[in-house]
Amino acid sequence: MSTNAFLNAQTQLEQASTVILKNTKESKQKKVEQQLSVLKNPARIVAVTFPVTMDDGNLKIFEGFRVQYNDKLGPYKGGIRFHQNVTLDEVKALSFWMTIKCAVAGVPFGGGKGGVIVDPKQLSQTELEAVTRGYAGSIADVVGAYKDVPAPDVNTNPTIMEWFVDEYEKKVKNQKSKIKSNERLAVVTGKPVKKGGSLGREQATGKGGFFVLEAAAKKMGITLKGKTAAIQGFGNVGFYMAKYLYEAGVKIVAVSDSKGGIYVPEGVNPELTAECKQKSGYLSGCYCVGSVCDVSRGKTITNEELLKLDVDILVPAALENVLTAQNATEVKAKMVVEMANGPTTPEADEILLKRNIPVIPDVLANSGGVTVSYFEWEQNINAEHWTQEQVFEKLKQYMKKATNTVFNTQKKYQTTYRTAAFLAAIEKLL
Ligand code: NAD
Repeated sequence: MSTNAFLNAQTQLEQASTVILKNTKESKQKKVEQQLSVLKNPARIVAVTFPVTMDDGNLKIFEGFRVQYNDKLGPYKGGIRFHQNVTLDEVKALSFWMTIKCAVAGVPFGGGKGGVIVDPKQLSQTELEAVTRGYAGSIADVVGAYKDVPAPDVNTNPTIMEWFVDEYEKKVKNQKSKIKSNERLAVVTGKPVKKGGSLGREQATGKGGFFVLEAAAKKMGITLKGKTAAIQGFGNVGFYMAKYLYEAGVKIVAVSDSKGGIYVPEGVNPELTAECKQKSGYLSGCYCVGSVCDVSRGKTITNEELLKLDVDILVPAALENVLTAQNATEVKAKMVVEMANGPTTPEADEILLKRNIPVIPDVLANSGGVTVSYFEWEQNINAEHWTQEQVFEKLKQYMKKATNTVFNTQKKYQTTYRTAAFLAAIEKLL
């Protein structure tokens, strides 16, 4: 079993490449093979180290990356992750998936990703700002509205994006070729709304995931109302996915975060649960049903137990490699909707396929985030402000179109939804 996300991403690419080559005329095989080989590696890897003065006066050196995978369809685009386990291979994988995702969603961006090896929970707010500024300053030369546009990912948020823009502006202010102010703003997306962010960006990934699932359910002949769901990861993506599913009448029977989860057969109210977690700092103790939180209604579970619950919809919304050869045989869910990037290893994919458990892949399911990032970028460039209703309506159209394309491709090639998404994307990338 591989826990190297980049090797897993390569396996996924190989699986799609095999289908493409099988359907390519003999005379064109060599050319297509060569074109496909371009997708095997990132165009550019930027590795940086930068010093930060910590609150105790000591200087600490941090390490980070920006990987620019492919810009065939537009400027590189992808989030910035702050996590103690960030590796170059993880960032390479995430930037590759961004390349596929932008093509699937139909947004005019390429794929990129950034990461800093840091546990932000160990930092004060001042140190977090200093780490962000250190990283932003280190990669300022290679980013820009028409070059590479970062965004939030795990442990990064709108405030961090605001610091990023500010630091970037300082770096480019003295350049001879002046960059226009709206273009400076468009250097990152996921900014606070008052600082050039888009309404609806905060909710976008979860909202997009819901629209994808809604469109997929229609294609599969499933009604969402009354179904049960378990959601791993109760951060930005997991929370909003839970909220929109709950509003559509899906019972959210389990949610979890890095410290563990809760299982409530009656179904939790995601908003009350999030408020409760905010107050106490923990999910355990937050058994919030209807309009009350009451510990007698459920029990605590581990993240591993959550993945094996007997539910209709399993939503991994935390990190990579959680569904593996070890636990895929025990998954009881009727379908998996990947809101995290890379939660299913290729070995687990194979097991789930054999067990007839469909997987709605990350490159489709969580593409709402980058889609609204594109809307934010467009609003910045054109000095426009769209309402939240406009944003959600456009998002719905993009997600519906992307889902229909993936499902039609799946039908045409009789393959998995993941390979179908890759096929639809690669068609645009060759
Ligand atoms: P976040 O930092 O807001 O939340 C992450 C959540 O995962 C937290 O609740 C955290 O406690 C939990 N978590 C961390 N380690 C865990 C573990 N080992 N087991 C269980 N839970 C764990 O991050 P996010 O932005 O919600 O991102 C979640 C996933 O969605 C990531 O894979 C990310 O790449 C992907 N994603 C995010 C966006 C976006 O717009 N933020 C877009 C597309 C994809």
